[in-house]
Amino acid sequence: MWSGGWKIPRFYTIAAIAVIGGALFGFDISSMSAIISTQAYACQFNEGGIDGNGRCLGPTANTQGGITASMPGGSWAGALCSGWASDKYGRKRTIMGGSLFWIAGSIIVCAAVNIPMLIVGRFVNGFAVGICSAQVPVYITEVAPPTLRGRLVSFQQWAITWGILIMFFICYGCSFIHSDASFRVPWGLQMLPAVGLYVGLWSQPESPRWLVKKGREEEAKDVLVVLHGNGNPDAPFVHQEFRQISDAVNEERKHADASWFELFHPDMINRTSIGVFTQIWSQLTGMNVMMYYITYVFTMAGLAESGTNAVLVPSGIQFVINVMMTVPALLWMDRWGRRPTLLVGAALMCLWLTINAILFALYSRTPYPGEFTSAAESMAVSGAPAKAIIASTYLFVASFAPTWGPVSWTYPPELYPLRLRGKAVALATSANWAFNFALAYFVPPAFASITWKVYVIFAVFCACMFIHAFFCFPETANKTLEEVENIFDDRKPGAFKYIGTPAWRTKNNRAAMVHQEHQGTTFSDSEHGHEVPDVQQEVLGPKS
Ligand code: BGC
Repeated sequence: MWSGGWKIPRFYTIAAIAVIGGALFGFDISSMSAIISTQAYACQFNEGGIDGNGRCLGPTANTQGGITASMPGGSWAGALCSGWASDKYGRKRTIMGGSLFWIAGSIIVCAAVNIPMLIVGRFVNGFAVGICSAQVPVYITEVAPPTLRGRLVSFQQWAITWGILIMFFICYGCSFIHSDASFRVPWGLQMLPAVGLYVGLWSQPESPRWLVKKGREEEAKDVLVVLHGNGNPDAPFVHQEFRQISDAVNEERKHADASWFELFHPDMINRTSIGVFTQIWSQLTGMNVMMYYITYVFTMAGLAESGTNAVLVPSGIQFVINVMMTVPALLWMDRWGRRPTLLVGAALMCLWLTINAILFALYSRTPYPGEFTSAAESMAVSGAPAKAIIASTYLFVASFAPTWGPVSWTYPPELYPLRLRGKAVALATSANWAFNFALAYFVPPAFASITWKVYVIFAVFCACMFIHAFFCFPETANKTLEEVENIFDDRKPGAFKYIGTPAWRTKNNRAAMVHQEHQGTTFSDSEHGHEVPDVQQEVLGPKS
């Protein structure tokens, strides 16, 4: 049972600690990129023997594929299992469990002496990331006030971008060490944030929604008072939240315990598909072509002429742009609303991808034999078109970072009723990892065989996601989670029977919600500072 420690908890503090799980996600993405080309790594995990110059050839291409893929594979499995754990043991404890898996996985990879050990360690690490990436948004969603929910969950995306950036540069720096420390140091260091996550969460409260669901109403009230009443049990917004949560839980008690099958029930399939597609589309934007294979793109655009390392600096710039451009979403996403953010993001990314497709199609030539090392580097461009491709690539990253990146984490947890939230978000997140894995695997052969048409495919996906979001994704910003439910439960006979309010008719009522929260809380944040009006004790009982 959670007790005490009330001085620390604030939803900002909770979010700041919980999103360390996002940083682990970022480490997951960039933990291999700068290491696989080092001799220390190639000699430790050598399968190919020694070449004519006495250099280790490292794992074969297939084995390396297996080593790389073991992490997203583990993440997929972790995300799926996390829904069950989160419903049974609570959001907070599940994330803490995830951090323990990460520590165990990091110990195994750091100490790895052979390929099976490396694969097992990476799978365990991936498992941890799957758990955290699915359940951190659920936890934050359930503790955040409606007007700040988007911002707080977006911190997860920001942490992901920081994790990618930090790990890329740590690995790059360590690649200059000429011993096995070049990979053992980064894989050992990555353990530290997970220790911080575990220790930091220890003193934070459990989700009030999960507590009510488990019949622990008194604890839930205490948590709400701290989160939304700044310690004042009389704050009206605390009453309102508690009442809405209790009503939702009572309603849900009429149903049998949530099963995975319920996600595919006609009443729920619309929401399930929206959540899952939010994550699938975020992958099909092609963002991870840039995250995993930017060195191929920049090599084709002529940046590698002065050596392989010449590509790493512009790649690093891309990761910095990713971090910086996530900030506008943190500040304004709740004002913009989810729908406009998704629509503008899809349109802009479609534009940059189309420009790249046209430039590569018109100005590239087939590389000379031996000009590039990888078959995926199947085109060569120089001069002004090459510069335009680099600029358009950066603009693409700058368009994903404030839009589909953060919204893909904010949006799915908002869509589901409490009893299904853990499982539904787990399913959506597992879709992210399944497509992440598939893209990581198929993009290099796709570049090798269909060259610039890869960009056409991703541009078409962006156009499709624009249309899908326009017609099917309702606005959820600035609504309580229970109000979001009403959008879907608003069933009219006829075409929209299983859909609820049509997505394009849903609005972002920010002004009304800000007013409601101001009336009801004494948040110490300057934007929320207010005296609490004296109110009826409807839920928490008479004042003592
Ligand atoms: C995606 C990752 C991607 C990252 C880039 C996340 O939202 O899920 O696949 O690598 O953003 O910042």
